[in-house]
Amino acid sequence: MHFHVITLFPEVCKAYTDASVLGRAQKKEKGKGAKQKGKQIEVSYYNPRDFSKNRHQKVDDRPYGGGPGMVMQADPVLAAWEKAVGRKKGTSIKTLIMSPRGKAFTSAMAKKLAKRYDHLVLISGRYEGIDSRVKKILKAEEVSTGDYVLTGGELPALAIIDTVSRQIPGVLGTFESLEDARVSSGEMYTRPETITHKKKKYTVPKVFLSGDHKEIEKRRGV
Ligand code: SAH
Repeated sequence: MHFHVITLFPEVCKAYTDASVLGRAQKKEKGKGAKQKGKQIEVSYYNPRDFSKNRHQKVDDRPYGGGPGMVMQADPVLAAWEKAVGRKKGTSIKTLIMSPRGKAFTSAMAKKLAKRYDHLVLISGRYEGIDSRVKKILKAEEVSTGDYVLTGGELPALAIIDTVSRQIPGVLGTFESLEDARVSSGEMYTRPETITHKKKKYTVPKVFLSGDHKEIEKRRGV
């Protein structure tokens, strides 16, 4: 999967995608069953500012019809999209626009995206949002990662890259993949068996030390 992130803050996002599991997935070759060769995931960044025709690299302007704040202009975003996937004919491309008003992003969507597409373009808004013509022209879908309003689409874009990547074979280790069959791991403990916090002792519940996997699963409530 090749992720293309259109954002005014690429360096903020790159720090995240270069770390840990996602960082490793960008270095690891795809598994044997893959359609094409290459790395498990690729992540590319495009800053609309680099595509602005304005002398001052301006990418926003006042909203038609009035109202507070500024709107991201269509042209620099469209030019960034062209640079990202404009020439990739014959491959499957999906474009998502981050928006608090979009369709709620779910684990099921992540699975579908991982299966169906080779290129996923994630457009991250700032200010009051992005000129609506971008959505129309690119036949993009608006997605929201939750019922709250952030100052930008970077965190939602990262959340989507993270969840979609976990669905790509080989990105997670075997153990983690097994865990992924469930929604989450529930209650969990690790060493040491007893910790002391403000003079009070907290010990791992006995059942977790019993080796009785059935009972442990029950207790975990997953
Ligand atoms: N006043 C605007 C809010 C814009 S928030 C409105 O009511 O729609 C600025 C940008 O942050 C948005 O363009 C979007 O890209 C991103 N964003 C904020 N909250 C988000 C959420 N819950 N999910 C996805 N994107 C979000």
